[in-house]
Amino acid sequence: MTLEFPGNPFAPRRRRTREVRVGDVGVGGENPIRVQSMTTTDTQDVAGTVAQAERLVAVGCEIVRITAPSLRDAEALGEIHAELTRRGIRAPLVADIHFTPNAALEAARWVEKIRINPGNFADKKKFEVRAYDDVQWQDEQARVAERFRPLVRRCKELGRAMRIGTNHGSLSDRILNRYGDTAEGMVESALEFLAVCEDEGYFDVIFSMKASNPQVAIRAYRMLAVRLAQRSGEGRGRGDYPFHVGVTEAGDGEDGRIKSAIGIGSLLEDGLGDTIRVSLTEDPVKEIPVAQALARRIEARWQAPEGESVREAGLRFVDDPFGHARRASDPVALFAGAGPGRGVASVPPIEFGGTAPVRAELDLGAPPDESEAEAAAWQLADALAARREIACEGLRFEIPDEAALERVRRFGEALERHALALPLALRMPASLAAHASALGSRWVIPVAAGSDTALPLAAARTAAAQGMAVEWALVATAPAGSAALLEALDHALAASGAAQLGRVLISVESPRPVPAVRLVTAALRARGAAVPLVLVHRDDPEASDDDALLHASIDLGALLCDGIGDAIVLPLRGGVCRAGDTLALAYRILQGARLRTTWTEFISCPSCGRTLFDLEETTARIKAKTQHLKGLKIAVMGCIVNGPGEMADADFGYVGSGPGLVNLYVGHDCVERHVPAEEATARLVDLIKRHERWVEPS
Ligand code: SF4
Repeated sequence: MTLEFPGNPFAPRRRRTREVRVGDVGVGGENPIRVQSMTTTDTQDVAGTVAQAERLVAVGCEIVRITAPSLRDAEALGEIHAELTRRGIRAPLVADIHFTPNAALEAARWVEKIRINPGNFADKKKFEVRAYDDVQWQDEQARVAERFRPLVRRCKELGRAMRIGTNHGSLSDRILNRYGDTAEGMVESALEFLAVCEDEGYFDVIFSMKASNPQVAIRAYRMLAVRLAQRSGEGRGRGDYPFHVGVTEAGDGEDGRIKSAIGIGSLLEDGLGDTIRVSLTEDPVKEIPVAQALARRIEARWQAPEGESVREAGLRFVDDPFGHARRASDPVALFAGAGPGRGVASVPPIEFGGTAPVRAELDLGAPPDESEAEAAAWQLADALAARREIACEGLRFEIPDEAALERVRRFGEALERHALALPLALRMPASLAAHASALGSRWVIPVAAGSDTALPLAAARTAAAQGMAVEWALVATAPAGSAALLEALDHALAASGAAQLGRVLISVESPRPVPAVRLVTAALRARGAAVPLVLVHRDDPEASDDDALLHASIDLGALLCDGIGDAIVLPLRGGVCRAGDTLALAYRILQGARLRTTWTEFISCPSCGRTLFDLEETTARIKAKTQHLKGLKIAVMGCIVNGPGEMADADFGYVGSGPGLVNLYVGHDCVERHVPAEEATARLVDLIKRHERWVEPS
């Protein structure tokens, strides 16, 4: 059966869910998105765990998770809960359970919610390959159900909530053997556990479908939403369980925040998510402002008036919203400097679309005054040269009038003197057609519904005569995809045809870019137009750098993860001398969406009470040695219990195996055991060298 996108992709609203009470905190229903985190202390260190939980609550954490790897840890939860209550802290606690059903039963006596992982609640992870016939499969399901049932009964009896938290990296061998490590396997794994809950008349369930790869997480959550709705439609259970959304092992620093924003932000853009956790390999207190920023932004968008939205039957923005395939487009060559025949003849054109990588451009806004052009070009060249590993593939300018046109001409000449021969995109109104003589390789022409169609056509004819490519910037004022946007698209396509434009691109300017670009993508599909799409990010200039990073990651990442976009454009923040930072952000977003790899990818767990070393410091040390290894995935995991299972598709793994000891992995194979921690980074580097994946840093 073909699965349809959950909801309306062109005007997504929040998925309707029931409220599940976690102590005093309601999750789902009409409640705001709840922000949560997890302690990293040893659970049996009651004072340390209480202190960290208190710090988390003080910055706005609404639900606190604590690992319970053993019965004694589960018992300690009682003391932690009592001490927090004594201090007047009522934030509910969640026991995190892997492999230990007996600890779960004990923990349920003390905390408001139990998180179980269907991949390891009743199964060990041995990476065994084995075929199950139907009888064996059902026998195994029955065995798992009987292990799980006592916990369900206890949660029901004590009024506890439960999270059925599937992780892509820790699916059971049984599920892996039948479904592979797929989103479908993740969903099936969770639904098996839900069946037991519903069989017991227990419905206080929240789901998660986490993965370190945002694309996988997006697919799995979407698929779960659809499957739950289907079951409910068929009278086989409820369909409105809330979702806890997160990207697991996201890492630290900017990359961790970008990956989290791409995964969590995309799902929130879909309307999926009632509580979120941002997993960073840092002090968990630092997760909270990131999660709050993601939650508040989407809540404002969910509450914005919908406007005149489109729900055209059969209009699809991707072939398969549960897979990843880059949208097909016809390549367009863009020339450096002033254009073909007039630009920098020795520089080959840069191709956008087709099989070219997703390009990264900078939006410089207004061109500098003539008196500043030389200095600005020098600073820009300097800033970009400092980031040799990444290439700026275009510059974009805002040209409101003739004077700005003259300024950009001077600046273009200055750029060429500093060997910055890049395609220039000039966003200027169609009314400047009479003055646009051979400037830039691409004219970005704004076009809106209701505007005079003669102007875009005249501009297109001028561009064609000048040998410039045209990017139609479809301007929408409604918050979501609207009929007006489609009208603008049809104006643009008609003008392209009438002017016989050979090189056309499209971008969308909308206050709600994700659904708006989806709508344009769907309309292009329906019209058979394989025009490359440029994703232009526009941010609030008042936003902090931290928020700007998150906003760009959400708005661009959500589309990129669906295979939409042939170039991304980020506005320059902080002047041309910071151009390298903005460009690096563009490349980090492309890497986070797994579309363009520039650096090593680190999969590092956020750490928890099981962690056997200082994960943040260790990750930083390994990063310093290996981050230049383009295309490699390295996992740094805190414990041997969950680490190997959660490393997902890492090429090499560094996993704590005991106090001061580390196991090293190649893929899922442990190749060196109990290496002293002080030697482990060097031994990891040796391992990478022996597997011929090492290159010396330049
Ligand atoms: S892998 Fe990390 S976060 Fe997961 S259980 Fe082990 S130490 Fe905790």
